[in-house]
Amino acid sequence: MQSFDLVRAPDQRTAVAEGAASHTAQQGASVRFLAGGTTLVDLMKLGVERPGRVVDINRLGLDDIHKQANGDLFIGATARNSDLAHHPLVRGSYSALSQAILAGASTQLRNAATTAGNLLQRTRCMYFRDLASACNKRAPGSGCPAIAGTNRMLAILGTSEACIATNPSDMAVAMMVYDSVVHIQGVAGDRQIPLMDFYVLPGERPDIENVLEPGDLVTHVTLSSPSTGERSTYLKLRDRASYEFALVSAAVAITLANGAIASARFALGGIGTRPWRVTEAERALVGQAPSDKAFRNAAEICLRGARPQGQNGFKIELARRCIVHAFKQITQ
Ligand SMILES: Cc1cc2nc3c(=O)[nH]c(=O)nc-3n(C[C@H](O)[C@H](O)[C@H](O)COP(=O)(O)OP(=O)(O)OC[C@H]3O[C@@H](n4cnc5c(N)ncnc54)[C@H](O)[C@@H]3O)c2cc1C
Ligand code: SF4
Repeated sequence: MQSFDLVRAPDQRTAVAEGAASHTAQQGASVRFLAGGTTLVDLMKLGVERPGRVVDINRLGLDDIHKQANGDLFIGATARNSDLAHHPLVRGSYSALSQAILAGASTQLRNAATTAGNLLQRTRCMYFRDLASACNKRAPGSGCPAIAGTNRMLAILGTSEACIATNPSDMAVAMMVYDSVVHIQGVAGDRQIPLMDFYVLPGERPDIENVLEPGDLVTHVTLSSPSTGERSTYLKLRDRASYEFALVSAAVAITLANGAIASARFALGGIGTRPWRVTEAERALVGQAPSDKAFRNAAEICLRGARPQGQNGFKIELARRCIVHAFKQITQ
C-alpha cells in the first residue's frame, strides 16, 4: 500500500477543510475521509485508491439515529449499518431498509460499515479492482474490457460505451423508495441532495460517480415518514444465500385502499449503474388492483431501455420476476 498521512478530524469544519485540499472527490482523490474503512482500505491495499492523506471522521459524533420533529428519520453519516438495521424505528417503519442492510456483506462488516460509506462504496467490477486491466473508471480513457469480457454481474440500465459497472449497494436501493435526502457540509456551506439525484450516470466519465466536490462531508441522510398502512420489503436474488452481491434486487413499498393500490414505490439493485427507480412505473400501479399483470406492467416500464451485454441478458427476466414476487409478498 502506498504511504499516507492519517489525521483525526476534531470537528466537521476541519474535516471539510482537509478534504477540500484534494483536486477531486471522485476517483483519484488525494484526500479521503475514513469511516468504517471496509471499502476504502480494501481499495488502498489493491492500489485502486491512493490518497496521500486519510481523514478519520469517526469522532465527529455523526452517528445518531432519531425521528425528527417533522416525522422524518435522521440517520447520521457514521451510524453503523448494524445499528441502523436493528434500530426499532427502522425495523418498525422502514422494513425494506432493515432487510436490505441485513442482506448485505457479513455481520462483522456491517458492524464496521457506516451509512455514508455504504452509499459511497465502489463497484465490484473485477477489472476496476485489478490494476493489470484497463478500466475507464479507474484510469479514464484506458478502455472497458468488461463490455466484451466478464459482465455477468454488471449493469443493463444506465450504461454507456465507456462503462457498464453496477452500483453494488443494497442499502441505497432501499433508501431510494423512502425518498431519502443526502445532507452535505461543504466548503460553501450546507446543501441537501435527493438520493435520486446523488448518483450520476457514467456517460463518457465513469470516474465521476456522484455529485460530491472536494471537501464535501456527508453529515446525515433523512428518510421521509412512511404513509399510514404502508408495507415495504426487500428481495435480493444472488448466487448464494449470504455474503454475496445482488444479481437483481428490489425494494418495494405499497399502500392499499379499498382493494386497490393507493401508492407504490420501488427501486432495483444489481442491474443499474446507479440504484434504479422510475417514478413513471410507480404511477402506472396507482388505482390498479394488486395483480401479476399490474406488477409485470410496472416492471416493463421500469426496464425500458435495458441494454444487456454478452453474459447478463438473463437479468431482464430475473428483474421482472423479482419485482412481481416482492410486491406479491407484501400484498398477499
Ligand atoms: C467482502 C465484502 C462483501 C460485501 N458485501 C456487500 C453486499 O452484499 N451488499 C452491500 O451493499 N455492500 C457490501 N459490501 C460493501 C460494504 O457495505 C461497504 O464496504 C461499506 O458499507 C462501506 O462503508 P464504510 O463505512 O466502511 O466506508 P469507507 O470504506 O470508510 O468509505 C467508503 C468511501 O466513502 C467515503 N466516505 C465515507 N464516509 C463519508 C462521509 N461522511 N462523507 C463523504 N465521504 C465519505 C470514503 O472516503 C470512501 O471513499 C461488502 C464489502 C465487503 C468487503
Ligand atoms: S465496466 Fe466500468 S468499472 Fe468495469 S472495466 Fe468497464 S469501465 Fe471499468
